[in-house]
Amino acid sequence: MKAIRVSQFGGPEVLQVAEVADPRPGPGEVLLRLRAAGVNPVDTYIRSGGYARAPALPYTPGFDAAGVIESVGTGVTHFKSGDRVYATGTLSGAYAELVLCLEARVRPLAQRLSFSQGAAIGIPYGTAYRALFDRGRARPGELVLVHGGSGGVGTAALQLCRSRGLRAAGTAGTEQGRKQVLAQGAAAAFDHSVSGYEPALLQWTGGRGFDVIIEMLANVNLAHDLELLAPRGRVVIVGSRGQIQIDPRAVMGKDADVLGLSLMNISAEEFAAIHAALGEGLACGELTPVVGCERPLAEATRAHEDVLAPGARGKIVLIS
Ligand code: NAP
Repeated sequence: MKAIRVSQFGGPEVLQVAEVADPRPGPGEVLLRLRAAGVNPVDTYIRSGGYARAPALPYTPGFDAAGVIESVGTGVTHFKSGDRVYATGTLSGAYAELVLCLEARVRPLAQRLSFSQGAAIGIPYGTAYRALFDRGRARPGELVLVHGGSGGVGTAALQLCRSRGLRAAGTAGTEQGRKQVLAQGAAAAFDHSVSGYEPALLQWTGGRGFDVIIEMLANVNLAHDLELLAPRGRVVIVGSRGQIQIDPRAVMGKDADVLGLSLMNISAEEFAAIHAALGEGLACGELTPVVGCERPLAEATRAHEDVLAPGARGKIVLIS
């Protein structure tokens, strides 16, 4: 089969198309024929060699995949060949024509969703759900700021807010991104690319502040977030690409919580619970992944450049 392989850590150009042996499913494993792979920012951090958990070289990148079951190993009970599925967390890497996964990491793909939408579920919706409900303890009726609402995690978070009775504002750096933020359920959209936009966010809450802030770029925004929090508010750090100085008194004064999140830390039970919770919303239409860009698998290099560029509008996927 063809796969995208990384033989040395480095820039996007180290992503190379190669011919590799077809994987075969062992006990409890399933093999899926790829139709779409999700491109997540973490794929670029790992590829560059700067990520805490580095894979052994050479490796095939990618966590999120959607496709059709090709074959199953012994003991697999929930899937058979021909089933439409999505997976998150693979054994062999998602950027490949065939993808090996543990059965527990695979879920049925709702008929109403395309394969590209299926590849946009795993990390984005899993992260958004965990940030809002497991870490952020968001409750119906609360006010949420999705700080970075135009990308994969942000659109998922806004849809989840809408479906759970949370009133949300979102930010994006482009006009198109802000239109999308509104279309995905935000009651208001703000531009994080202009300086001094933060007071308008506080004004939108009537001066009270947000109960929960889902933060995609904490190294830029965390100090402002603390000013934007309501008493007993929670900031959940989803993304950060550097360091920042904050005033701890801004946390103390509000009995606020600053929480971190790494989806890599979730247990098998937490994974199953999150995807059980997402399943009904994905099937009935409350949750619909937004695919902003599809590229052929062979254009993984371009996709890695795109995913770090400003101007997000949903998810970037590689199709096969
Ligand atoms: P994405 O699709 O590339 O979207 C990036 C988002 O960040 C866009 O909405 C972008 O808005 C926004 N952004 C850019 N500048 C910003 C600013 N100054 N303030 C607020 N937001 C800003 O990425 P993603 O998949 O949604 O992931 C978002 C972040 O979370 C990434 O850093 C990713 O690595 C991280 N993440 C972490 C976990 C975890 O387990 N902790 C899991 C998934 C993702 P514009 O493009 O409109 O400017």
